[in-house]
Amino acid sequence: MATLKNYHIKATRTFSLIRKFGWLITVLVAIGGLWEPKLGLIVAFIMAALIITGFFSGRFWCGNYCPHGSLFDNILPISKNAKIPSFLTSKLMIVGFFIFFMFNFMRRMLNVFQNWGRYDFLDRLGLLFANTYLMVLIVGGLLAVFITPRIWCQFCPMGSMQKLSHKLGKTLGISEKTERKVTISALEKCHSCGKCSRVCPFQLEPFLEFSAVNQFNNVNCIKCSTCVANCPAGVLSLETKNNALKLKEKTSLEGYADRKKITARISAKKELTEEATEYVFSFESPQEVSYRSGQFVLVKIQAKPKSFRAYTISSYNEDSKQLSIVIKKVSGGYGTGKIFSEFKIGDVVELEGPLGNELVLDPSAEKIIFIANGIGITPFIAMSKDVLLNYPNAKIIHLLAGQKYEKDLLYHDYFNQLAEQYAKFSYTPILSRDETTSLKKGRVTAGLRNMPDLKGYKVYMCGTKNMLRESYKILLEKGVEKADISYESESKIVL
Ligand SMILES: Cc1cc2nc3c(=O)[nH]c(=O)nc-3n(C[C@H](O)[C@H](O)[C@H](O)COP(=O)(O)OP(=O)(O)OC[C@H]3O[C@@H](n4cnc5c(N)ncnc54)[C@H](O)[C@@H]3O)c2cc1C
Ligand code: SF4
Ligand code: SF4
Repeated sequence: MATLKNYHIKATRTFSLIRKFGWLITVLVAIGGLWEPKLGLIVAFIMAALIITGFFSGRFWCGNYCPHGSLFDNILPISKNAKIPSFLTSKLMIVGFFIFFMFNFMRRMLNVFQNWGRYDFLDRLGLLFANTYLMVLIVGGLLAVFITPRIWCQFCPMGSMQKLSHKLGKTLGISEKTERKVTISALEKCHSCGKCSRVCPFQLEPFLEFSAVNQFNNVNCIKCSTCVANCPAGVLSLETKNNALKLKEKTSLEGYADRKKITARISAKKELTEEATEYVFSFESPQEVSYRSGQFVLVKIQAKPKSFRAYTISSYNEDSKQLSIVIKKVSGGYGTGKIFSEFKIGDVVELEGPLGNELVLDPSAEKIIFIANGIGITPFIAMSKDVLLNYPNAKIIHLLAGQKYEKDLLYHDYFNQLAEQYAKFSYTPILSRDETTSLKKGRVTAGLRNMPDLKGYKVYMCGTKNMLRESYKILLEKGVEKADISYESESKIVL
């Protein structure tokens, strides 16, 4: 796998309370065990628990309850987060280390059991476990800092024991009913962005390996839900096989069924602001692609692993021969780094799409508000024109557009022109940081708050999570029905 330096992202991996604070048990046993060896006996219960959970749920324990796992996850901020060397994940390493570890452990265990019945037997047994715990803390902790947090887990003998136990559960046909695996609701909805792989503590590649029932069957998956929480399409969840089948059946493909591969040539490129550049793609194969305003397209940024980035189509579809997107530079961004440095006029690029129905206009809507901040303005470039030209039922259309500074405003003249040309269209740019501007100052949400009662309005929003969350609350307060609020965001949020 070709991996650039920053391919793997440091995403938060702490979800449940147990996962957040489980590391305290590691410290208690490994360090406290030096003074009170019986503390090490806790490990015997942990081993029993992980073998039992392994039978039903594979490596679920590792991703959710393991005290060492919790410790390693908490090391993430100071970890180099580098690529896991492939020899550490090889069968030879995993089996070899398991035999080596178990041989030594059992040898020491036999020595301890020679003291059976003596007053200090439990102390000796506890010390064996506590010392083992301390060794993992030191070796695993150092590897976590200098390579990546979950490096020990690649060959951890306890992980191997879970896998053996899981194999038994699988052979007996039990784990199939109980194991919850990473599941995608519909392959058509995947952005192929690879984020699930970039945030995965095991650096697995779920997006390339979904089975016929849309599940990720890799035995090493620790079911930690990091990919689920970070998927920008919001299409991942942990499900049993039965539920995965039901999910596949009930997931609507509206807006996603026409997804196709498109070969296109970059026919124009224009810097709109310091941060945002517009790219025009002319279709080559197929030569015509029909798309609707509010939809997005995937742009291929690399071949291995095959990765795309999602961009909203900003152009109004005149003749299905081309489309435009406006891309904002992201500091430290992997995909935008490639696009801004490598994409030139004349280049042939692979696209996939068109996709999305979240922002597709409702023809019955009479009163409409578009709310955007930052790069979230892009869908409304096409949608404003579309609603004015093709939606006769729409009688009032407001566009609230937030940016930090006046210089960041995108398509400002274009929206002003539409407002001059059509009395039913109003455009309100709002600037959050510009002290010198003659335009409105403040946040989009303040502009929204100042609006009168909005009962009966249909609302379309695109922008940052915080803006969407706050706007949603305000809209409900102003009488907008939940069903009349549609939104799209860089990361899927549930309002
Ligand atoms: C439906 C949809 C439509 C979209 N439309 C547009 C659009 O019209 N225009 C547009 O510009 N964008 C749009 N996006 C966003 C776009 O898809 C990309 O997410 C965006 O361009 C950033 O990609 P990237 O690979 O450069 O960033 P990434 O590398 O994925 O970085 C994303 C974030 O993670 C941070 N990060 C990166 N590496 C690390 C690390 N090692 N540790 C910690 N944090 C890190 C970055 O600083 C950044 O904040 C859209 C997204 C979706 C889902
Ligand atoms: S695939 Fe997802 S659930 Fe499995 S280990 Fe990776 S991030 Fe965790
Ligand atoms: S949308 Fe991205 S993160 Fe979600 S499954 Fe697809 S490739 Fe993974």
